[in-house]
Amino acid sequence: MREDPGVLIIGGTAEARGLAAVLVQTGIPVLSSLAGRVRDPALPAGEVRIGGFGGPDGLREFLRQRRFRALVDATHPFATRMSAHVAAVAPELPTLRLARPGWADHPDAAGWTWVDGPASAVQAIRATDGPLLLTTGRQTLDHYRVLTDRTVLVRVVEPPEQPLPSGWSLIRDRGPYRVEAETSLLRDHGIRVLVSKDSGGSYTAPKLDAARDLGIRVVMLTRPAAPATVLSTDSVDGALAWLWTVLH
Ligand code: NAP
Repeated sequence: MREDPGVLIIGGTAEARGLAAVLVQTGIPVLSSLAGRVRDPALPAGEVRIGGFGGPDGLREFLRQRRFRALVDATHPFATRMSAHVAAVAPELPTLRLARPGWADHPDAAGWTWVDGPASAVQAIRATDGPLLLTTGRQTLDHYRVLTDRTVLVRVVEPPEQPLPSGWSLIRDRGPYRVEAETSLLRDHGIRVLVSKDSGGSYTAPKLDAARDLGIRVVMLTRPAAPATVLSTDSVDGALAWLWTVLH
């Protein structure tokens, strides 16, 4: 009898790891895919592959070879290219998008400046003087390099390829974070503006509480729209319930 090919999880998030852990515990074969951006990634339980598929055609060919029973796109809400590729192959097998809720319902959300991209973020930043903490990731950093007259603290997981402008400094770190440490960081660097993506979840949320306590302005990048054609859930439990119906 042919071995159960199980579930392909396109990962890189805590939710993807959470889902893989439960599936492995339940005895359902799972292959998690990571992009390979981070040198020392947190590895999910079960089988893992690392690296791009080669666009939607590469992903389609990979699915054709392995014949998975279900596909879960559990990439980060801002990983739009990978999610678009998943949407392109979704008609070929049961497919679900798993994305944690954003911070729109956070109690302080109404007080933040919501912007739709880095260009609007730069404009918003310019409206407030003083040092800023940039937590929007390495890949979009170039958009902010126009802020040469500002003191900028950049927090990233992996270092940027290009040197930073003078007046900028770098912290390499990754969550989860704690409010106390975030408060010290913001206070010690005299931060006046915090720039963040609407990543959602609890791992990186403590900076938002610390910013509120210290009266720091928050500039929040709204999420890109998720592909409308793919069924979605915002929780690991929701993904498990869906998988249960698909696999049984
Ligand atoms: P992206 O721009 O949407 O994807 C760029 C390319 O990277 C994709 O076309 C694909 O290459 C490859 N790729 C992305 N995720 C992959 C995965 N899980 N497995 C295999 N290939 C993958 O993605 P991104 O924003 O660079 O994010 C890369 C990874 O980091 C994602 O897995 C995401 O979950 C994680 N992450 C992203 C962010 C963020 O803010 N963007 C934050 C935290 C974690 P091919 O076209 O060759 O298949």
